[in-house]
Amino acid sequence: MRVTFALAALAAAASAIPTELRERQDGQNSKPCPKKPLVTAEKLKEDITIKKLVKGAQQLEDFAYSYPARNRIMGGKAHEDTVNWLKKELESTSYYDVTLQPFSNYVMLNGTLNTFTIGGRAINSTIFEYSNSTAGLVTAPVVVVSNLGCAASDYPAAVAGSIVLISRGSCEFGLKSALAGGAGAVAAIIYNNAPGSISATLGPPPRPEGSYVATVSLLQAEGLALVAQIQGGANVTASLDVLTDVQVITTNNVLATSKCGDKSNQLWLGAHTDSVGAGPGINDDGSGTVGILNVAKSLAKYNVKNAVSFGFWSGEESGLLGSTYFVESLSPEAALKIRAYLNFDMIASPNYVHQIYDGDGSAYGLSGPAGSADIEAFFEGYFKDLNIPSNATEFNGRSDYGPFLDANIPAGGTTTGADEIKTVAEQAIWGGVAGEILDQNYHQAADNVTNLNQDAWLLHSRGIAAAVAHYATSWEGFPVRTPVGNGTAKRSVRTEVRKGVQGAKRSIKLL
Ligand SMILES: [Zn+2]
Repeated sequence: MRVTFALAALAAAASAIPTELRERQDGQNSKPCPKKPLVTAEKLKEDITIKKLVKGAQQLEDFAYSYPARNRIMGGKAHEDTVNWLKKELESTSYYDVTLQPFSNYVMLNGTLNTFTIGGRAINSTIFEYSNSTAGLVTAPVVVVSNLGCAASDYPAAVAGSIVLISRGSCEFGLKSALAGGAGAVAAIIYNNAPGSISATLGPPPRPEGSYVATVSLLQAEGLALVAQIQGGANVTASLDVLTDVQVITTNNVLATSKCGDKSNQLWLGAHTDSVGAGPGINDDGSGTVGILNVAKSLAKYNVKNAVSFGFWSGEESGLLGSTYFVESLSPEAALKIRAYLNFDMIASPNYVHQIYDGDGSAYGLSGPAGSADIEAFFEGYFKDLNIPSNATEFNGRSDYGPFLDANIPAGGTTTGADEIKTVAEQAIWGGVAGEILDQNYHQAADNVTNLNQDAWLLHSRGIAAAVAHYATSWEGFPVRTPVGNGTAKRSVRTEVRKGVQGAKRSIKLL
């Protein structure tokens, strides 16, 4: 305790002079908005109503349901509609400089599993995102790879021309599929290493190990039975007909920065605009998108001291593509002007918890850059003032705040949960159903307006408003920014976690 306190005091003393100096130097950047009252938390929170939030969510659902795919995946029409709508909504305030930031990447626009049989028996399965197609209907022997299929040496010569059977675990799905492709397999079956089905991504191609093959999932029990059968000497054949449409597309982030306020001391907020293919993505992440949009629109009535910016990221579901592109495009000088980044991904989960990113690392041991703990404390105070319990969620970079952490930008935010299973203890605190995941419609067709928890959504959206009012008026006591390079030890641990050793970000599964 004492060590932490002493360090914090030192940091505060060291930061006092540079902050003042910088604010004076950048005084020319401060542009007060004439004839508008300075924003207050009370006013901004009051402005956020469930009626406005639901109207926004309905708009996003309508975009999705206007097309046969009924989703808002990156590269799809309903996603483009989402992006254009956000741009228009933000421009209509005249309060922000609004730009589209284009970038290109791979997307799997469609995936159809026409046939999947093993030994003549039809199998229920899912296609991994970015899977290749088979050459029409292929029938081939099933070959079990050695170990977990994470090394080229795990793939025997017999793999060539066969359909490989691989267990989930230890390395990314993408590596297994690429190694199978490199070894000449015609397709890969990856079976689960736990109960339940797999809905996951291989990650965007290309990979140095080989081209992806058609890759489909299998339940654990079926996979293990098949392995036993084949290792017992049986010859098993499988038939597969997978048709996917993987293309390079150009998509857009929507960026909006208030015309007023000190642009050398900006607050950034973000949410993602894309859904997965299975559904319209209204909690994930229509809730965050509409939450920050409504705060942005309400903020337009008020004056700010610090510039406030909003990033609506594309391609989160395919691997944090938009937020990564944004952060990597920043010059070092521009990055230093971002004092903090707040992320909101899923804030209306039906089986909700009230969670705050663990910026101080007290709960999970992974803290963020200096300032992240302050943000966590701010949101703790927000819930505490309302007498509503909250707890911490692991700060591992598995959503769009990850790239900001990598750039040493302090970050934080709140969430109501994704596919984590509600514990009995959590049920005792917040109600809901223990033993079920926090959003039972996570990455499903039913992630729609009907299934949002409106109370949780309003609470978290007003929390966004409170944070914006707070940081838009003062950074007093908030640590000054330091360039990348300070505190790299913790950062590299988290980057490793994020980039696949431990797994993917929260909303996609890479292994
Ligand atoms: Zn999400």
